[in-house]
Amino acid sequence: MLGLMQDRPLLISQLIDHAAANHGDTEIVSRTVEGPIHRYTYRDARVRARKVAEALISRGVTRGDRIGTLAWNGYRHFELYYGISGMGAVCHTINPRLFPEQIVYIVNHAEDQILFVDLNLLPTVEKLLPQFTTVRHVVAMTDRAHLPRDCRIPTLLVYEELIADQPGTYEWPEFDERTASSLCYTSGTTGNPKGVLYHHRSTLLHAYGSALPDTLGIGARAVVLPVVPMFHVNAWGLPYSGALAGAKLVFPGVALDGASLYELFEQERVTFTAGVPTVWLALLNHMQANKLKLSTLKYAVIGGSAAPPAMIETFARDFGVEVLHAWGMSEMSPLGTVNHPKEKHQALSADELLKVRLKQGRPPFGVEMKIVDDAGKELPRDGKAFGDLLVRGPWITSGYFKGEGGEVLDEGGWFATGDVATIDPDGYMQITDRSKDVIKSGGEWISSINLENAAMAHPAVAEAAVIGVAHPKWDERPLLIVHRKPDAQIDKTELIEFLGTRVAKWWLPDDVQFVDAIPHTATGKILKTKLRETFRDYRLPTA
Ligand code: ADP
Repeated sequence: MLGLMQDRPLLISQLIDHAAANHGDTEIVSRTVEGPIHRYTYRDARVRARKVAEALISRGVTRGDRIGTLAWNGYRHFELYYGISGMGAVCHTINPRLFPEQIVYIVNHAEDQILFVDLNLLPTVEKLLPQFTTVRHVVAMTDRAHLPRDCRIPTLLVYEELIADQPGTYEWPEFDERTASSLCYTSGTTGNPKGVLYHHRSTLLHAYGSALPDTLGIGARAVVLPVVPMFHVNAWGLPYSGALAGAKLVFPGVALDGASLYELFEQERVTFTAGVPTVWLALLNHMQANKLKLSTLKYAVIGGSAAPPAMIETFARDFGVEVLHAWGMSEMSPLGTVNHPKEKHQALSADELLKVRLKQGRPPFGVEMKIVDDAGKELPRDGKAFGDLLVRGPWITSGYFKGEGGEVLDEGGWFATGDVATIDPDGYMQITDRSKDVIKSGGEWISSINLENAAMAHPAVAEAAVIGVAHPKWDERPLLIVHRKPDAQIDKTELIEFLGTRVAKWWLPDDVQFVDAIPHTATGKILKTKLRETFRDYRLPTA
């Protein structure tokens, strides 16, 4: 017997309608690429999102068409999120920091019809345009007055003109909640990038799951500043969960340096923010160098890479900010776990509590996870056994766009994350390493993340990376690569001695290399493939 409740599809357009109806005068503030701060409300955003939908339809866009965006976090990008998905097309966010050939590959692979482009990214698009095979129009996300005179894109349209004459009264259509809504390619550290194709249902369930108190816990009183870009897994879903909650949104635009972020945090009284460790390094350095304090910020989500313990401590001790360590991936929309200590942890000493906080956290309802050994047998949840981490749930991918990469789920419907992890009896998952980064020394595993964290705790270290280097006896041994803080002095012996007090002796790196900079991926993670390439022929002194 079926139940008798209403069968309303879960659609992204309902989020902006909900926010406009119930939080109509809550602000959305943006630092624009053009320069000035722009502010308006959810009510205004809904009208303009409808105009976007009307403009797309007038240009022949139909359901399922892919519409690309090359843009920073800002109000026009927010309108595109809702306008494009709301009418049934697919919002394909593109990371402008990718290599040009990767951008060309994914625009063509996605078969983008129209590209919406922020002002400072027009030159990139102008150069790549001849290689795009499906793009009919490029829309500059600005007004006529700001358009550069020398821009030579033949089919160029201007955003403000495109939507100006539209009525803004569009009625969002109803369709199957499993209709594709947005598309995001993973950076593809190996091989070509692969597209993760979200649907309306997965996006709404993810937004519900994100807003829970032990997940991101966003409510209508929150002021949310997503530093994580809208081109990287939909800014971890914050443009959706923010609207669901009716929170004030603050978009930082292109200026992600410490000084610009600090200014916005203070001016807009931001309470909640989210980003990868590299952006927080810059913010913390800026605040420390200028003896600044944060007056309203309560929570900083750190994800994308492991949050170094020194960063968690500094945020709490010097700035009164609680770090929410989180883990996820593009394939998971992205939220997999968030770390909130439980009541039983409140009695722990500061050191013990930090150990709990270093874990990547617990999954919200909606994400199932387990760890398995090489034979696929489930391992105990004892916080010690580690194995391949598998996940399952309604906001986790079932395969990549156009079938790239083949079948990705096992018979039980589990998706292999490529991460190696432990799970403890309280449900906290801790990443040991990415399976391809873990160092295999004499049949035992050494976690590059743990070594990096230990090195980052030294005050002279700005950033540290650890890779495995071939060793005749042990197969692989760790090489520590360090970028020193400006003017800081430290040598190999001193650093190894320091690490000796923090990690097991057999984990100690066989060598240390000092470099001027550590390479990063387009999403701000340490680019280990590059480091492995650079040190491919490196001979360890112990070899
Ligand atoms: P890519 O980096 O390939 O674009 P994602 O951005 O989706 O892909 O990154 C997902 C991966 O990032 C995870 O599988 C995991 O290895 C890593 N990651 C994410 N958050 C954390 C974290 N808090 N600690 C350690 N690793 C993390």
